[in-house]
Amino acid sequence: MERPEPTLPLADVKAMIRGAGLRSTTARVAVIQQLASVRLPQTHADVTAALEAFGFDQSTIYRCLTELTDAGLVARLDLGDSLRRFELLKSGTDGFSQHPHFMCVSCGSVSCMDDHSFKIKANNRNATAPGEIQEVLLKGRCSSCQ
Ligand SMILES: [Zn+2]
Ligand SMILES: [Zn+2]
Repeated sequence: MERPEPTLPLADVKAMIRGAGLRSTTARVAVIQQLASVRLPQTHADVTAALEAFGFDQSTIYRCLTELTDAGLVARLDLGDSLRRFELLKSGTDGFSQHPHFMCVSCGSVSCMDDHSFKIKANNRNATAPGEIQEVLLKGRCSSCQ
């Protein structure tokens, strides 16, 4: 199997990992390049499926995802189904992906709405926010299920 062309140069990935205070290992580099090349939230199983052919087992990948999340390079999305999904954070965001996600109610696919932003505006002066918003999820039917 041919490894897909990495979308992020190796030197940049290494610098990112070191910049977050971690040692740059082959597994961490591979996980970041995988998340960068797919550009969609990936489950642990997705990342494992993509990388096990290159000799990384699922516990190594799980550990990498957790370490990269703790280091603030990767966001862990909890979209209400039982699957945890991971995506690469753009630099300058602090632990949250800061863009809405769209989940198809029919096939369960999730996509990033990176080109969209959201703003929540109180309708009256007494409105209080329920808390800190970490995730905005829109649900509907994707273009292939419409
Ligand atoms: Zn769909
Ligand atoms: Zn996203």
